[in-house]
Amino acid sequence: MKIFDEIESEVQSYARAFPRVFNRAKAEFMWDEDGNQYLDFLAGAGTLNYGHNNPLFKDTLIEYIQNDGITHGLDMHTKAKGEFLETFNEKILKPRNMEYMVQFTGPTGTNAVEAAMKIARNVTGQQNIVTFTNGFHGVSLGALAATGNSHHRDAAGVSLSGTHRMPYDGYLGDNIDTTEYLDKVLSDSSSGINSPAAVIVETVQGEGGINAASIEWLQNLQTVCRKHKILLIIDDIQAGCGRTGDYFSFEEAGIEPDIITLSKSLGGYGLPFAVVLMKPELDQWKPGEHNGTFRGNNLAFVTAKSAIDHYWSDDKFSEEIKRKGRYISERFESIVSQYGEGNFTAKGRGMFQGINCVSGEIAGQITRKAFKEGLMIETSGADDHVVKILCALIISDENLKKGIDIMEQAIKEVCAKEDIPEEDVYFEV
Ligand SMILES: *Cc1c(COP(=O)(O)O)cnc(C)c1O
Repeated sequence: MKIFDEIESEVQSYARAFPRVFNRAKAEFMWDEDGNQYLDFLAGAGTLNYGHNNPLFKDTLIEYIQNDGITHGLDMHTKAKGEFLETFNEKILKPRNMEYMVQFTGPTGTNAVEAAMKIARNVTGQQNIVTFTNGFHGVSLGALAATGNSHHRDAAGVSLSGTHRMPYDGYLGDNIDTTEYLDKVLSDSSSGINSPAAVIVETVQGEGGINAASIEWLQNLQTVCRKHKILLIIDDIQAGCGRTGDYFSFEEAGIEPDIITLSKSLGGYGLPFAVVLMKPELDQWKPGEHNGTFRGNNLAFVTAKSAIDHYWSDDKFSEEIKRKGRYISERFESIVSQYGEGNFTAKGRGMFQGINCVSGEIAGQITRKAFKEGLMIETSGADDHVVKILCALIISDENLKKGIDIMEQAIKEVCAKEDIPEEDVYFEV
């Protein structure tokens, strides 16, 4: 359609990787306006963990709208908000012995990150926040200062301040525990690192290339934070809501973050919704001190509650994700062993895995070939060199296999040097 070239800003990104006009979606599938079907291994960058238009929540949502339920109510108390809070408390927080206050922020991930960083700074009276190499936390100024990617950072237009970068797990090689370095500089009054308010970290770096921190590293990070009285913020916006197998990605590590950010799949239906969870003693906000018009997406409250009721009332869903995660690991290991160790490596955890192709050029060829075969799959990482699986967690075994088969075939062809020119994909069908 010409209109996109005519008036939609150059800033578009995913639209360039998947140059079709989409108009329908269901579970793990999307269709373009010509009726072509695509298996969706991008799932709204991890926003559609429960699939597109999940029928379990759709009826609840339609009924709520039909009954003239509140859509927008600023941050006023609504029945939908109350019911979401009750369900979240009973089925997510309490069974995990987690005691947190819930702050509704503006509806995108970066809004939650801004609020989390603000709380940490205000409560501790310190400005500096430790962030990690390849971290991604959003693109509004505060969150952007915590984000590593230079493509995003360079667009800031002003200096990004208040953060200090440290090497993430594995950044300096497999045998170096980078939390030891963090401990060292924080113990040394001459290290030049200002005493921080907090550390903000992803347990698995999504946009940064599916780098999964080891469980031990996460535990050591918490120990260092406690030792130096720094708050631990886990940004669980992409890794949370079941992606790694548990509701929160840090559960396996048994750590207890001071602050947690959630968004992406929290709303369940793809509706914008974000929260900050903070330990009760950190909730020192004055009324309205941090506000925003859209801090009460009531439609998202309805579907978020429904998602928790349907999928998180017992362990079944979690077991299913872990089983599918093991299947992905097996397939990836087999792909890596067939097509040459060194060229490809598998990485990630649960249903948050990727294949590191070393070169962005190779990864791009793979995703373009896959798209030609009806699979939507994206890359991530500093050089877009990691092909990442982010399919809906509810995907059928059959379609998970089908998608990975397409990936494998694309890798095989790329290894056989059957290059596919970029123009081929951009050609209008
Ligand atoms: C996507 C993401 C964000 C930013 O969320 P937006 O809704 O795009 O603002 C922040 N942190 C992590 C880990 C993310 O994956």
